[in-house]
Order: sequence, then structure tokens, then C-alpha cells
Amino acid sequence: MSNLRALLERNRTFAATGAHAGLAVMPRQPVFIVTCLDPRTDPAAFLGVELGDAPVVRNAGGRVTEQVIDDVAFISYLIKTMIPDGPLFEVAVIHHTGCATGFLADAGFRYDFAARTGLDETALAAEAVIDPEATVRADVQRLLSSPKVQPEISVSGHVYDLETGLVTMIVDPAQPGRVPTLSTDPPVSA
Ligand SMILES: [Zn+2]
Repeated sequence: MSNLRALLERNRTFAATGAHAGLAVMPRQPVFIVTCLDPRTDPAAFLGVELGDAPVVRNAGGRVTEQVIDDVAFISYLIKTMIPDGPLFEVAVIHHTGCATGFLADAGFRYDFAARTGLDETALAAEAVIDPEATVRADVQRLLSSPKVQPEISVSGHVYDLETGLVTMIVDPAQPGRVPTLSTDPPVSA
């Protein structure tokens, strides 16, 4: 018997409401959400994302991986093809407090997991979300600097606090190619 049984009963209730009928593939909200697969961080709950509203990609930590970049590139190219003059969307990268990827910062846990899976330990260490403000800044930068994505998109970064339930914007929306370069102190002449 499938563990999905209880949820399949909910599906019957859902289908009976007709909420699925007549939805367009084009998202109603001009956003693309990247967040963690943690069951506590469902954008349908904490952002009120409704059916047909927005594409959502969820993975461990809500990290901007190559796969996520490819997904953003695909959806933005698809929308650009369907509506050439239309606006594109803002990618909202959302990390959260208390993320379970923090276990990857533990050397023993990381070593055992790497040994079990063959995954690279250094790469695993980089996946940990310990300081969500820092990782979300890095991931916004990673997406903005990818040549794969349409230059018309914008990218913003946020942290969702599990304690307060509030989302705080950490990085204002910016577009690829218009990224402010990291400031470096001018050389001091003697
Ligand atoms: Zn998480």
C-alpha cells in the first residue's frame, strides 16, 4: 500500500473543486521562486502562492545549482518565445533559518555522506546554508553572472525566518549585466 494514500484522497477532493480547470501555462505572477524542499518552507503557505501563479523550484537549501540555472534559462526562453515583447520575471531566491543543510557543515556527517554516495566533500560543504543571508547573496550573484539566462530577467534574494514566519529582502532585484561590482578599496598612494 502506498504511503501516498491519504494524499490521494485529498487529490479526489481537490479534483472535485474544479480548481485545476482552465489554467494557462503562463504564470499569473511575474516571479520564479527558488527555495528549500523543507516541508516547513512551502511557498504556497508562506507566500500564498496559488495554483497557476508561479514556477517554483525546490531543492536542498534552495541553492542556485546548474540545474536551477538551466530551469530558469528554459522558462525564460519559453516565455520569450511565446511573448517576444512581454516582460519576463523576477527570480526570488529564498533561503531560510534553521536549514537542515547545516548538517553538511559537520565534518563527520559530511565525510560519512560523501563516502556513502561518492559525492564530493568540498562541494557538499559549499551546499550548507548556515548563514542564509550570506548564501542567498552568493546564489543571487551566481544566477546573475550566468550567461545562460535571458538578460531581461531580474534576480532578488530573501531570507525566510522560521521563527517569525516573515520573509526579509536581502538583495534588491538586479538584472544580469547590470550587477554592481564588488567594491574594492582604491590603492593607497604613499
Ligand atoms: Zn532548508
